[in-house]
Amino acid sequence: MNLIEVIKTIRSDISKLERKRNEELERIKEKYDKQIAELKIALEVNKKMNSYCINCDGRGFYRQLDCAGIENETVTCEECKGSGRVLKKDSQ
Ligand SMILES: [Zn+2]
Repeated sequence: MNLIEVIKTIRSDISKLERKRNEELERIKEKYDKQIAELKIALEVNKKMNSYCINCDGRGFYRQLDCAGIENETVTCEECKGSGRVLKKDSQ
């Protein structure tokens, strides 16, 4: 049984599908990369403008769960030293 033509056709079809798959993946990747890049810029801009501590939602403290899983301890936020504001870093 000579199946050379069939084998060649199947190989060719596989190659075409692989090429098509890679092209589509590239388009999808570009689309999402662009959106992610835009959001990263927006994130940086907002982080720079934000003056409230993100660690404690600007409250200066947060509640900690005890070993029973009950919120019963108020802890001063170390990030903002309890101010609820972004502290200026001297070393930058
Ligand atoms: Zn804080």
